[in-house]
Amino acid sequence: MNAAKALEQTALKSADKTAYTFMGQSVTYRELNESVNRFAAGIQSAGMKKGDHMALLLGNSPQFIISLYGAMRAGVTVIPINPIYTPDEIGYILRNGDVKAVVLLDILLPALETLNEHLPSIDQYVVCESGDERAAGLAPANSSIYTKMKTFSYLLANDGAFQEPAMDEEETAVILYTSGTTGKPKGAMLTHKNVYSNARDIADYLDISEQDTVVTVLPMFHVFCLTVALNAPIVRGATMIILPRFSPKEVFDAVNAQKATIFAGVPTMYNFLYQFEQGDPSDFSSIRLCISGGASMPVSLLEQFEKKFNVQISEGYGLSEASPVTCFNPLDRPRKAGSIGCSISNVENKVVNELGEEMERGQVGELIVRGPNVMKGYYKMPEETAVTIRDGWLYTGDLARQDEEGYFYIVDRKKDLIIVGGYNVYPREVEEVLYAHPAIIEAAVVGAPDPDYGEAVLAFVVQKRDGLTAGAVIQYCKEHLAAYKIPRSVEFLQELPKNTTGKILRRSLKDQILK
Ligand code: AMP
Repeated sequence: MNAAKALEQTALKSADKTAYTFMGQSVTYRELNESVNRFAAGIQSAGMKKGDHMALLLGNSPQFIISLYGAMRAGVTVIPINPIYTPDEIGYILRNGDVKAVVLLDILLPALETLNEHLPSIDQYVVCESGDERAAGLAPANSSIYTKMKTFSYLLANDGAFQEPAMDEEETAVILYTSGTTGKPKGAMLTHKNVYSNARDIADYLDISEQDTVVTVLPMFHVFCLTVALNAPIVRGATMIILPRFSPKEVFDAVNAQKATIFAGVPTMYNFLYQFEQGDPSDFSSIRLCISGGASMPVSLLEQFEKKFNVQISEGYGLSEASPVTCFNPLDRPRKAGSIGCSISNVENKVVNELGEEMERGQVGELIVRGPNVMKGYYKMPEETAVTIRDGWLYTGDLARQDEEGYFYIVDRKKDLIIVGGYNVYPREVEEVLYAHPAIIEAAVVGAPDPDYGEAVLAFVVQKRDGLTAGAVIQYCKEHLAAYKIPRSVEFLQELPKNTTGKILRRSLKDQILK
């Protein structure tokens, strides 16, 4: 079915239920569904057809949800893009993704104006008013994109009568450009079946219901938010608290004021919430479930957070190519700290060796995935697709092991593995030890070329307050790790480089060393 049907069904069943709150405004499922119909009708009368591509350059906002569902409803493929990308990065995706229309924040107009002359295929810019005064007059009548522009409210000014296209569930609903570690970003094509099934399956697995109020603060352009904190609540008629950006105070205030029941975040967010000095242990008292994903959750942080706020953090795992969720800690069996849990409903996970053969429990190999959530392929990249999807299995590039009870553990990314004199060092194992040090807030470990051992382990650390020395950190590591895993050097930083989803960028630390 068309993935946007989920919203229509919820609007029929729970018309007056609050779909979301945003900056003090509260909107029901009926109202959201009407806006989505008007968006679909608006883009159709502007000439967009089934199969066309539309990019979203938006922050967390109602306009994001309306554009996403409105486009899917009209059979138009959506390409969400991180709005803080550079014009070059944005230009690459718009070109590679054959984008015809862009929904964007007004403050991005100058960047798009520069790109426009190189992007002849784009014939529409739908501009959302950000309320930012710097945006006033950014696209004057003589600007090159003026004739292609319309405002978001103008697009919605119609009666919502759109032509429902005949849809096959294998058609592409969304293309997500994944950063990858080498080369240009690749566009993972997610079908309507992928998008809908993963939202439904994770909602089932985590028992998300109409009674739930979910904090939607992860960036909507990222697949973790898209499925877990946006599509899953819509499938079930839960209420979303949309926060435009992450700040510990705003999260605590929103949870308290609206009695949120589910918080979804990346480990970095949990770290900020934990470190926030005014954070009160009762702040999360209405929360029934904290969800972590996107990167590994250090066990010491998980334990400290749970103790302080008296909640349980359930870690899961996913990747853009799998829409994204493949594993989660179950609700009906014990939660295991450090584990990404078990396969969610309808999805299979397996640990394999270099030949693709399943390994014995406890052994480390590559995690591969099969299910209705696995992407159709990379857009216009058949060779990359053939390398990544083999015999119907998606090769994740992550190293994992499975225990006797079926729980999976991510050991590390295959490409982050450090080999010291022939021994494997998984950065995560060293990082776990560093995170457990009481004076360390954040840590990342990378490998650097070494003439004697091939590679050496280097650590980057953010400390609570000055006073720690590199020697003391190395001595501490010696007490907890085998000799070949001990960092050769420790560098203190004010903060670690992260992407906008809060993932620590080990690659950028590595680049610094190589320079
Ligand atoms: P993305 O496609 O941007 O969502 O990134 C997917 C990658 O994030 C995966 O291939 C993993 O390397 C990493 N990842 C996601 N969740 C976890 C987790 N719980 N533990 C460790 N790594 C994770």
